[in-house]
Formats: sequence, C-alpha cells, structure tokens
Amino acid sequence: MKKEEMKKLEQEIKECKKCKLWEKRTNALCGEGSLDAEIMFIAEAPGFNEDLQGKHFIGKAGGIFDKLLDSIKLDRENIYITNLLKCKLSNKKIKSEYVNFCTPYLNKQIEIIKPKIIVPLGKLATSYIFEKYKIKEQAIGKVHGQIFNVKTLFFEMKIIPQFHPAVVIYNSEMMGVLIKDFKNIK
Ligand code: URA
Ligand code: SF4
Repeated sequence: MKKEEMKKLEQEIKECKKCKLWEKRTNALCGEGSLDAEIMFIAEAPGFNEDLQGKHFIGKAGGIFDKLLDSIKLDRENIYITNLLKCKLSNKKIKSEYVNFCTPYLNKQIEIIKPKIIVPLGKLATSYIFEKYKIKEQAIGKVHGQIFNVKTLFFEMKIIPQFHPAVVIYNSEMMGVLIKDFKNIK
C-alpha cells in the first residue's frame, strides 16, 4: 500500500515540470530509505552529484551526514531521507515559487510515512516545517538540536531541527556541534 503510493508519487516527481527547475535537472529525486521509518530527514535540494546519479546525499555533505548517522547508530536503511525541493537548484537561489510548487510532494511523503520524528536539515527545511506545524519561526542558529513537540487530535510528533551537514565543509568546528545536536535525536 505505502509502496504503491510512493511509487506513484515518485513517477509524478520524475515527470514534474511545475517550476522551472525541471529544465536543468538530470534527475528529480523523490526520497530514499524505509517507508516504515520513524525518523524522516529533510534536506534542501539535490546537489550536483545527486542530480547526476539520482541518489541522495552522495557528495561531501552526504559523507558528513553518514558520519552523523553513524554517531547515533542509525543507518540509511532505517531512516527516510528526502529534500524540500526535488530538483537541483540551477543557480543556488531559492525562490518561494519553487517551494510552493514542490512542497505538496513533501507533504504527501509525510502523509505516507507518518514519521514520529522529523529532522529538517538547515534553514530552509526548518523554516518550511515550522510554518507547516505552526511553530513560531526562529533562526536555525537558535533552535538547532532542540526538540519541538507537535500534538494534534490525530498524531504526535517531534521536530528536531539541525544545521545542514554542509556547514561542516566550510567550518570543520561545526562537526562537534552537529554530533552533540544529533544525540538529541537518539
Ligand atoms: N544537499 C542537500 O540538501 N540534499 C542533498 O540531497 C544533497 C546535498
Ligand atoms: Fe517539480 Fe519540484 Fe522539480 Fe519544481 S523542483 S520541477 S516542483 S519536482
């Protein structure tokens, strides 16, 4: 059931031309990992390598992400990973129209997987997820690693925003911060 639903969504994403990011993509990426995952990570958009090979987080930031997962004894098979935007950014600039056109896919993925924990990676995904679950917008520099509880009549969930792993590429000291923050996921 979940599998069929996700397959259908994946096909839709592969063929999507709703915003102009489709023009320069090689591969649109849906998501990867377990459909029964309790933890869902949401990064930003496929990078250069991810776009070429059609796989999630395989570049430098991906290596860092794997180390962080390893530090809390998780692996890719028992989590689900996706991006806010399913196509690579052709010029690094994110426009709100991309987010508006693309996030119905992410919303559907959340509906299918029903994670207990959502971990937005970086400013963009955090800002979107906070807005979606009506958490007051705050800077990622302030909320990184903190646990936010979302409770409705129908479900309970935790949101644990993190810095994007790519920050470590530019500042290796950030690895310590991320390792510490990731402990709160466990
Ligand atoms: N950066 C992201 O935000 N997502 C990826 O999949 C790769 C790099
Ligand atoms: Fe469609 Fe999203 Fe790709 Fe835009 S970024 S073309 S909305 S899949």
